[in-house]
Amino acid sequence: VVSLSNVHKSFGAVKVLDGVSFEVGRGEVAAVIGQSGSGKSTALRCINALETIEDGTISVCGHAVHDRKLDKRELRRDVGIVFQSYNLFPHLTAEQNIMLAPTCVKSLSKAKARELAREVLARVGLEAKADHYPEQLSGGQQQRVAIARSLAMQPKLMLFDEVTSALDPQLTGEVLKVMEDLARGGMTMILVTHEMAFARKVASKVIYMHKGKVWETGPGAMLENPQTEELKAFVGSGL
Ligand code: ATP
Ligand code: MG
Repeated sequence: VVSLSNVHKSFGAVKVLDGVSFEVGRGEVAAVIGQSGSGKSTALRCINALETIEDGTISVCGHAVHDRKLDKRELRRDVGIVFQSYNLFPHLTAEQNIMLAPTCVKSLSKAKARELAREVLARVGLEAKADHYPEQLSGGQQQRVAIARSLAMQPKLMLFDEVTSALDPQLTGEVLKVMEDLARGGMTMILVTHEMAFARKVASKVIYMHKGKVWETGPGAMLENPQTEELKAFVGSGL
């Protein structure tokens, strides 16, 4: 579903992605880990064409993302992305936030969009909160609404960038649970996370990035048996 090959990306003189290659297959859950500044978010943003790359190829759900002729709207119909900040519209209820894209982008009727909103809210365990405004929801609930909003577009791939970093441990747990359910349901996902236990348990593939390179990659079990000094130190640091 996703394939990066020898991707290079710089910001000015700073090389942020230095020949990054990895693949994520259908139904796979890939966890991207690594120190701050190692290029994790940038890699994720490149997959969704939020950044342009200087060299290499990126293929996502059949879209050639590196191609200058890429239709970004078509790509983003297939790819959902959720960030650390939930960016819900404060003047809209949970349900209205979710209905927005399906009605505007997919021209769904209000009734259909509402039905869809109820369905995805149920999937994240928030059917009772449909009429609540963001300020009436906890951080974890807001993040689950943001995930539901992405799901309403019926993406083939979901990207998550440290979606639990701003949450306290209990709220983190409920968001991770939603992501685990999604994974169980067969959703293809790439997540940047500091939650090592979650990566070990849920990810079919762990991608350890260091200094803009994929330093080590393998199944979750690789975290128990790091092959490089860098990953050993990273895992040992308890992050
Ligand atoms: P973190 O764990 O802190 O989120 P990260 O692995 O996600 O880190 P990136 O956000 O991908 O790291 O950033 C990698 C490098 O690129 C950093 O040195 C950062 O300062 C730089 N960088 C990221 N975005 C920009 C930008 N828009 N302009 C200039 N430099 C940037
Ligand atoms: Mg980041």
